[in-house]
Amino acid sequence: MQRRQPRPWDPYGKVYVLRLGHRPQRDKRITTHVALVARAFGANGFILEGVCDESVEKSLKRTLECWGGEMEYMCGVNGKRYVEKWRREGGEVIHLTMYGLPVDDVIDEIRTSTRPKLIVVGAGKVERYYYDNADYNVAIGNQPHSEVAALAILLDRLYRGRELYSIFYGAKTRIVPSKRGKTVTGGVEC
Ligand code: SAM
Repeated sequence: MQRRQPRPWDPYGKVYVLRLGHRPQRDKRITTHVALVARAFGANGFILEGVCDESVEKSLKRTLECWGGEMEYMCGVNGKRYVEKWRREGGEVIHLTMYGLPVDDVIDEIRTSTRPKLIVVGAGKVERYYYDNADYNVAIGNQPHSEVAALAILLDRLYRGRELYSIFYGAKTRIVPSKRGKTVTGGVEC
């Protein structure tokens, strides 16, 4: 039986990312990056709204198989119903948007609440519903940039950087940090 991934820095149980508005023709790479950042920075669920995209799923699964860790993946999900269910079950919703409140003003409150967290990121225009139904609309600065950067900064502030040192269970290979070159254990090329 596989042991659960230890997450001593995470009192929330579930920290999931809901990716809205993925356009398979143009967003494959950036949505994959959202999923990989979610995993690497401590989220344990990635939900793709509206559509499924095999290439996103494959990249995430390949990464999990090789580099370890656990992450729930769902696609083709109705985003509004997912948000409603999340809140009904006691979770809170954090929508990342440049129009929101500065991250520094709200991160302590978000961190202190131990409710499961659903972090919502957009691709194109985000529907009003998400602004109205989020517990927090959070801005990582009030300039437009990227969902990848916004997510990374939010998670890193939430966990105060401790997520960067987590050990991913089930990894076939691990990096041994080195000053120069590439040192790995496990003998598997990923
Ligand atoms: N034009 C879209 C809109 O009006 O909502 C924004 C598109 S932006 C490229 C994609 C996503 O990146 C946004 O939905 C948001 O989640 C995130 N994002 C971009 N800049 C941000 C910022 N300064 N703070 C927080 N999130 C941001």
